[in-house]
Amino acid sequence: HLPTAELQALDAAHHMHPFTTGNELAERGARVITRAEGVYLTDSEGNEILDGMAGLWCVNIGYGRHELADVAARQMRELPYYNTFFMTTHAPVIALAKEIASLAPSHLNQVFFAGSGSEANDTNIRMVRTYWAMKGKPSKSIIISRKNAYHGSSVGSGSLGGMTPMHEQGGLPIPDIHHIDQPYWWAEGGDATPEDFGLARAQDLEKAILAMGEDRVAAFIAEPIQGAGGVIIPPATYWPEIQRICDKYEILLIADEVICGFGRTGNWFGSETVGIKPDIMTIAKGLSSGYQPIGGSIVSDEVADVINSGEFNHGYTYSGHPVASAVALENLRILQEENVLGHVRDVAMPALHEVWHGLNDHPLVGETTIVGMMGSLALTPDKDSRAKFAMDAGTAGYMTRERCFANNLIMRHVYDRMVISPPLVITPEEITTLGKRARQALDEAYTQMKD
Ligand code: PLP
Repeated sequence: HLPTAELQALDAAHHMHPFTTGNELAERGARVITRAEGVYLTDSEGNEILDGMAGLWCVNIGYGRHELADVAARQMRELPYYNTFFMTTHAPVIALAKEIASLAPSHLNQVFFAGSGSEANDTNIRMVRTYWAMKGKPSKSIIISRKNAYHGSSVGSGSLGGMTPMHEQGGLPIPDIHHIDQPYWWAEGGDATPEDFGLARAQDLEKAILAMGEDRVAAFIAEPIQGAGGVIIPPATYWPEIQRICDKYEILLIADEVICGFGRTGNWFGSETVGIKPDIMTIAKGLSSGYQPIGGSIVSDEVADVINSGEFNHGYTYSGHPVASAVALENLRILQEENVLGHVRDVAMPALHEVWHGLNDHPLVGETTIVGMMGSLALTPDKDSRAKFAMDAGTAGYMTRERCFANNLIMRHVYDRMVISPPLVITPEEITTLGKRARQALDEAYTQMKD
């Protein structure tokens, strides 16, 4: 119950924040969030903020679901912790693994649990290399990923990611990770049609495999729809070609479903939306709607059989944590019993798409793009030429994000793209409010940029 300014000063003095500069924290103070209900956050000054990002793309069922708190409390009283190493297990992790396998595509039936998406992708690096080594092909160790991808912040997952500012800190990437270009037509497509561009960017994978040798490439990893890179939706030609290439050269396909999974794209998994058959899917975020930290890798029967034929020397203290597992299971129950995907497809998606594309007429907006409940728009000084701003990349996005904040809307910016990913349970009325606040923020940013 300290006053906001005092909390902010203590926060700046003792709390190191991810992806934040210390100076900004000290000068302005972070916004202190105190409560949340449905799609709204409340801050320490009593503002009600519409969370257009579902936290960090994770609170799929919305805030304030007391059932999850009840399940957590019950599980903590009964078995607050036990591990899954050395031949032990427990009911919550068994039930969760079974449920995930029943929701996943039919060839994916085993789950290796982790505490987060980053940890799960670290698991994947070791798992695919171990798989090929156990199949007698230890030279297959290279993992191909994409520039501007985000796969997490640990050393392994940060290496899989293709973000230059992350690679510049701490000596990333680790060896044998290779990045190809992303299928970002609006910014990089030039005069090509989206279809030709999508095909060409997929064929970059084939070129990379041939250049390095197919006997050296273990896997290709990508998000079905790239999220943190700015919600980059690939042209329809992209994914079928990637699947063809992976099949042809026996390259394992890892779909990072950390954002796309559990309803975000309008299906249970983004892989269904883009029509691919991955060998491994990374999951986290929407698995528990963010109520508990949990992630994992859903593994194909083929890969699991090979890995399980020996000992995989890998695991985390919190792999399959009983409280996190019980909460995730309750979250999956709510998603299914309340038909949240039906709400997404029939109600939320049509309303959000209409509101989102409605922003296309704004003078600052170059394109609006959206799949399911994840969308983005490009800020531009000139719609027709798809031009970039003369000011530093990200400045226009930052200004717009700040105007959203001032209008009690959370929208994220990725350089000069604005990104949206609200809770899946958002109502049409709330979507209307989101649209009005977004337009107001764009108007204010536009005025500010002209001044
Ligand atoms: N993979 C993707 C696609 C993500 O978007 C993220 C986080 O945003 C991660 C992995 C990392 O997950 P975590 O932050 O739980 O480690």
